[in-house]
Amino acid sequence: MSEAENPVSKRAPIHAAMQQFPVEQGELVIGGERLSLLAARVGQTPFYAYDRSLLRQRVGELRLALPAGIKLHYAMKANPMPAVVGLMAGLVDGIDVASSGELKVALDAGADAREISFAGPGKREAELRQAVASRVLINVESFRELTLLQRISDALGLPARVAVRVNPDFELKGSGMKMGGGPKQFGVDAEQLPDLLVQLARSGLAFEGFHLFAGSQNLRPESICEAQLKSYELALRLAEFAPMPVKFLNLGGGFGIPYFPGETRLDLRPIADNLARLLDRARSELPQAELVIELGRYLVGEAGVYVTRIVDRKVSRGQVYLVTDGGLNHHLSASGNFGQVIRKNYPVTIGNRAGQVEREQASVVGPLCTPLDLLADRMELPVAQEGDLAVIFQSGAYGASASPQAFLGHGPCVEVLV
Ligand SMILES: *Cc1c(COP(=O)(O)O)cnc(C)c1O
Repeated sequence: MSEAENPVSKRAPIHAAMQQFPVEQGELVIGGERLSLLAARVGQTPFYAYDRSLLRQRVGELRLALPAGIKLHYAMKANPMPAVVGLMAGLVDGIDVASSGELKVALDAGADAREISFAGPGKREAELRQAVASRVLINVESFRELTLLQRISDALGLPARVAVRVNPDFELKGSGMKMGGGPKQFGVDAEQLPDLLVQLARSGLAFEGFHLFAGSQNLRPESICEAQLKSYELALRLAEFAPMPVKFLNLGGGFGIPYFPGETRLDLRPIADNLARLLDRARSELPQAELVIELGRYLVGEAGVYVTRIVDRKVSRGQVYLVTDGGLNHHLSASGNFGQVIRKNYPVTIGNRAGQVEREQASVVGPLCTPLDLLADRMELPVAQEGDLAVIFQSGAYGASASPQAFLGHGPCVEVLV
């Protein structure tokens, strides 16, 4: 049967099943509590809820899947809620921060400074000083940062711990966001590394290794494996120019989660096999190096929901609109305005009507005076009324902290770890 005749191939793509939250009495259960009771406990809508047991489960499953020698870091920009960072700090091997504000949260949460690394373009002098004094690993991203670190280290009498973030000469194919390859503001171009390493050797700073990060939100294991292999081989070539043996090699991350129709969960097996081969090579080629991967959304994204209450149900020229008390002001990403090229629906449901058979096509929109404030565009949903709770899945990463909460003055949302 050809593609054209195959009725299955014509069906619209659907969202991956969202089975991480059980259903009881027709309601989603989050953190062990039925949604309506959780909403009562929180005391307001909208809110984000992150499920502790799912966070633990995710890290546990990942550890089981990956070879034991791989170190797992949490990139906290995905979800910087202090309670989440505190929980994650106890589960992973290190925390990656991207500002002095994040550094403070990580240190306050009890993360071990020796296992914190600090990356990001345009680090200010004051931030670099805080990082040196905190004894965290600093991923140097320019010649300027290296010069400043020399001065700061001299002044403090404390040699900065540095790794060099490399802008690789390749990219992570098929990524939601590319962060390496070609001209970039991140890291130092691989071609300039020999010169930088000469300056580093003269600086007296404590060189520890390399950091490579090629891209984000990738669901293709073969692309992730290819980027990891290329990162490893690039680091191996650069190690010849390094003043000291490589102790730290961060191969990046990029593990994606399914957000949109047609996307499926990442198959970890090929990635685990690939990492096992790299660990094997490193034993002889970079004997002092520990191999690190850094993940954000993969660790926390699926454990979180955004919950907003339906304030109004309207029918406009035959189209049902469920107007909620929160929208893109709290969840920019679900509205399609956080780096997406084409807007697609996140998985959405009516969380207090989870078992309901009566369904209809409806759009879920927030309360903002802009057509951009769209949380679900003509989705099939349980028939809902005023007072019901619309739930957006896959919301544990790049939600509250990545949204313009002051826009239109509706006030901030609440976040709970349950
Ligand atoms: C943003 C970022 C991450 C996390 O990306 P995810 O897609 O959330 O996994 C990891 N490392 C660096 C350097 C980043 O900038």
